[in-house]
Amino acid sequence: MKGFVSRVSGPVATVRVESSVRAFEAARVGRAGLSGEIVGVRPDSALEVDVALYGDPSGLSVDEEVFFAGEPLTVELGPGLLGGVLDGLGRSLHGSGFYLGEDGSPPQNRWRFTPAAALGDEAFPGGLLGTVAEGSRFIHRVLIPPDAPQAVRGNPVSWIASEGDYSTQDCVCRLTDGTEFSLSHKRAIRTPRPFVARLPLDRPFFTGLRALDALFPLAEGGIAVLSGGPGTGKTVLQQSLARRCRADVVICVNCGGRGNETAELLEDFSGIPAPGGGSLIERTILISAPANVPPAMREAAVCLAMTAAEFYRDMGYSVVALVDSVSRWEEASREVEAHLDGSEGSFYARFARHCQRAGSVETLGGRRGAVTLLNTTSPKDGDFSDSVTQAALRLSGAFWGLDGERAQARCFPALSWGRSWSLYGDALSGAREMGEDWLESRNYLLDVLSRSGLARAQSDEERWLLYHSDTLRNLYLRQNAADFNDSQNPARAAMLLRFLVALDKRVRKVGFPAEAFSVRSELVRLFALSEEEFPDQAQEWLKRFTVVADFAVADAAAVVVQKAAS
Ligand code: ADP
Ligand code: MG
Repeated sequence: MKGFVSRVSGPVATVRVESSVRAFEAARVGRAGLSGEIVGVRPDSALEVDVALYGDPSGLSVDEEVFFAGEPLTVELGPGLLGGVLDGLGRSLHGSGFYLGEDGSPPQNRWRFTPAAALGDEAFPGGLLGTVAEGSRFIHRVLIPPDAPQAVRGNPVSWIASEGDYSTQDCVCRLTDGTEFSLSHKRAIRTPRPFVARLPLDRPFFTGLRALDALFPLAEGGIAVLSGGPGTGKTVLQQSLARRCRADVVICVNCGGRGNETAELLEDFSGIPAPGGGSLIERTILISAPANVPPAMREAAVCLAMTAAEFYRDMGYSVVALVDSVSRWEEASREVEAHLDGSEGSFYARFARHCQRAGSVETLGGRRGAVTLLNTTSPKDGDFSDSVTQAALRLSGAFWGLDGERAQARCFPALSWGRSWSLYGDALSGAREMGEDWLESRNYLLDVLSRSGLARAQSDEERWLLYHSDTLRNLYLRQNAADFNDSQNPARAAMLLRFLVALDKRVRKVGFPAEAFSVRSELVRLFALSEEEFPDQAQEWLKRFTVVADFAVADAAAVVVQKAAS
């Protein structure tokens, strides 16, 4: 199918076609071969369509030729995406297999395949053909793609490649009907990947940020929205989450942000160990569609992220997609729509479909996989009433609101205790990994934080409440984004909090001795201890503190007794 450019308007080309074409068909536009996608079939003429351009339209003129692919926009999914930086169309901006190229060696284009399927095995979508090791510890499962023709189901494997090195295009498996599979496959970016069933969201997704995990937890497969005015720390918080969270694969999208944000992240991540082993960069895919790329590219970047996330989900992994930011995505949509005639604002429907792609599922191959989604929104005045944030709120199970004043005071993460919430707590409170006392601890924290807001320091009890809530805020909930050593596994986070609760109880029991008001420097020392050292030393310290405190109380009592006697 062919057409001709009849008009160019900003990031959109209007194209005359000879017969009708379908919306969302991919196109190559003009002599420069710009990628594009049909975003509107013009209401006044079925033979004119609007094509959003993914490249720079400045050289494009009227009457240049346009070729339609006859299929929607697709990307190639296979080994080599991890550790890479992709543009919105999935093209590598950094050589594929980036982490192998660090020492100057060429990007990897052959992969060691270990077969898992055997001759005679019956094929089915999601079925395991074999594995490829990516990086130092990631096992890439090569599966029969979900859009393999239904007819493959039940067909026996007639040939399977033996262990060896293959390019992503080489055939590694053939069925009796002649169907061939390679290490990679093409996938339309706007079509959600099918699955068997949604599973309940009852497993915690640990962000590694104590303030979030302790107060407003996220479930694996759940959706959170992170929202705050400009400069409140959304990007930094997302990045520290990308670094600390417990996930097999992390996909970060820069949609409409600064161009160098991605480069900075890449630099940060190289060589840093990931929680659970391997290096951070080996579990990460960065998708870069900053403010200076065409709006259609910024929009495609978000769809690409979900497409890649579902790809690893189907391998049975826990994936998190971080979209920074949905507000910029909505702007990109409007930039395109401004050049379309008669197109209604369709952003919110697309945003809802985007959120539908999150979830914890039973995959076609019978595995359990999850896509956890974190959307960022950036309300201009920071008051969360803008329509993008409100739409995100309706689609999310957790809200992390950032507070401008706390950010100005440089209390990071500048989470608003009062306005943030999570609906996942109840379903998660039974999860063993949250710790038996999670719900109790959470209520304790929220209670201390809210009561301290009203306290006046008029009694010892109030003075202690203020002192202790400061400890909780500054020692427990505050985490420096730049501190790589401050990695937190959930067990450690729970242990620290349990200790602070015990301290509080003890201080109350012994009647707020003077020593209690100078414990913070000791706590700083204890909190810096390793996980192995902490329990014993902390307990020892608490015991000693108690004895001192008991003496103090006893002394005070003795003084009172003496006074009474004299
Ligand atoms: P936003 O994305 O909300 O506009 P950023 O994430 O870019 O804001 O943060 C703005 C600035 O605030 C950062 O450049 C950094 O100086 C500071 N900042 C934000 N979060 C943190 C943090 N957790 N630790 C230290 N500094 C932070
Ligand atoms: Mg930002």
